[in-house]
Amino acid sequence: MILISACLCGLNCKYNGGSNEHPVFADMLDRGEVVTVCPEVLGGLPIPRKPAEIINGTGYDVLEGTAQVISNDGEDLTTPFLLGAKRTLELAREYDVNLVILKSNSPSCGVGEIYDGTFSHRLREGCGVTAALLKENGFSVVSDVEYLKERGQE
Ligand code: SF4
Repeated sequence: MILISACLCGLNCKYNGGSNEHPVFADMLDRGEVVTVCPEVLGGLPIPRKPAEIINGTGYDVLEGTAQVISNDGEDLTTPFLLGAKRTLELAREYDVNLVILKSNSPSCGVGEIYDGTFSHRLREGCGVTAALLKENGFSVVSDVEYLKERGQE
């Protein structure tokens, strides 16, 4: 089974109430091939919600307690982001998933690159909080961009 960021399949769970739907992933959901997850909603955050970025580090640093997830108006959202990551890990174990596909650049789901904490659309190297926790626990995690590129389906 594949675990996937829900917004990629067309579920409107993004911070602004929209989605990041791609037909390849929406079709996978229609065929029952994926389990969808939105770590930020699992962590108790509403839809819509304030945009957030990781300040002074990456998802790994948030897991270690040396960086925080902060909203664009300065609220510390580290606790719900950590809870969402933990619940996503529990789901990944429950469904015995062999691949995780996560939305690029997100402070939860980003794999390889995330927004840099300045709210200026700049990217830095690193993973979001959920991506980092899943990788630390041995799951195979790829971004939506990598997954589509490998298959020539961008
Ligand atoms: S937390 Fe992940 S699944 Fe949820 S909206 Fe953001 S990128 Fe999509």
